[in-house]
Amino acid sequence: MKISLPQDVTNIIERLESRGHEAYAVGGCVRDSILGKTPADWDITTSASPEEVKELFAHTIDTGIAHGTVTVMMNHCGYEVTTYRIDGEYKDGRHPESVAFTTRLSEDLKRRDFTINAMAYNSTEGLVDLFGGIEDLQSGTIRCVGCARERFSEDALRMLRAVRFSAQLGFAIEPDTYQAICDLAPTIARVSMERIMVELVKLLVSDHPEYLRLAYESGLSAVFLPELDLMMQTPQNSVHHCYGVGEHTLCALRHVPPDKNQRLAILFHDVGKPAARTTDAKGQDHFYGHPQIGAQMTGEILRRLKFDNDTIACVKRLVRYHDVRPEATMKSVRRGVVSMGLACFPMIFSIKRADTLAQSMYRREEKLAAIDDFERLYEEIMAEGQCVDKKMLAVNGRDLLELGLTQGSQVGDLLELLFAKVVEDPKSNTRDTLLAEAEKYIKSGTIPHRNPKE
Ligand code: ATP
Ligand code: MG
Repeated sequence: MKISLPQDVTNIIERLESRGHEAYAVGGCVRDSILGKTPADWDITTSASPEEVKELFAHTIDTGIAHGTVTVMMNHCGYEVTTYRIDGEYKDGRHPESVAFTTRLSEDLKRRDFTINAMAYNSTEGLVDLFGGIEDLQSGTIRCVGCARERFSEDALRMLRAVRFSAQLGFAIEPDTYQAICDLAPTIARVSMERIMVELVKLLVSDHPEYLRLAYESGLSAVFLPELDLMMQTPQNSVHHCYGVGEHTLCALRHVPPDKNQRLAILFHDVGKPAARTTDAKGQDHFYGHPQIGAQMTGEILRRLKFDNDTIACVKRLVRYHDVRPEATMKSVRRGVVSMGLACFPMIFSIKRADTLAQSMYRREEKLAAIDDFERLYEEIMAEGQCVDKKMLAVNGRDLLELGLTQGSQVGDLLELLFAKVVEDPKSNTRDTLLAEAEKYIKSGTIPHRNPKE
């Protein structure tokens, strides 16, 4: 097995070796190289102590000295160089009590989570694969290094990592490993939401986001995303649907591009349905108001999972508007862009298409054609440069101040007013028209106060 290492990595390894230390590329980069994928980053494991590493390289950053990690900078790239480590006892299921350094590579590989992540490589020794990683890569298997139960008891996050790697690689989780996840799933409650969120996002933007089903079936989602469990358990008897809410969602996930916000929006687009569901006399289910309910819930869930405010705002909006079907006129599409905001509006089309493609065939062509029309109108609006964002107004705050407005709040109110006008009538978005309009309001002293939008 030959892996081609980047020149910087070879240089780092050779420099360490020239001083009598051992050093190898390790973990994800070895796994990805063998799979023929380009590794996102290269990690190096070494017998040298952090101090010894720092002495050997001109530019280093103390990334995690206590855990033995030093980042070596080379040609503006950072490489994490970590001393061979043994993790001490895990008492709380998430942090080792202590870490000890060791001079044995085998000890360092033994502490790693899965066989496919526990291989090391350098050009002198070739591949070091002590736990059957190659075989598992070839058969497409996620298997713990050592006893699965013990490894998940040490760090419960590994259970979700198993699901995440299986989604990224399209691999199956080996039966003992999977059984251990099912048995220990409740213990993921000990893991911080921040760490869970990182794995959840990686799972969602993977090639197989629908493997999220494994998080449900094993009992993991019940702990950190019980809303998914409810969706999985909610049927929808409707001509529009061929799946229950959960399966529909998993199917739709595969139809949106692997973008964080879009995948999150599709994950939550119907999260309001279990609460909104009513069944009529004919046995048909209805979900009135589910986008509003869902948007509210999405905000709460994403906050709980520690997502940032920009992500929350965008995903909430996509959920809120996923089912809106504007009239096929430029005016109503402009209004739609304004109410959603220009930044996340363009994502609405892939959300709507994915939603449709995960429904029954009932009127599918018609639904897709309506989305195409909607998108075409949006593209025309943009091509014509019609104003759909305050930044596109032909006048700005300074222009209004020059007209003699003094109060800052009035500037905002007047801009808001002019903006509402040009959204209704794009031709009025010229400097002359808007300045004349502004003067009229200023002279008559009738600038209505507007509440800023949420
Ligand atoms: P990627 O970075 O592509 O998501 P990766 O395999 O590099 O995948 P990281 O989370 O960056 O994953 O971890 C790097 C390596 O560290 C892993 O390959 C694994 O060997 C080890 N590792 C990471 N997290 C754990 C953990 N919780 N328990 C045991 N080993 C871990
Ligand atoms: Mg990595």
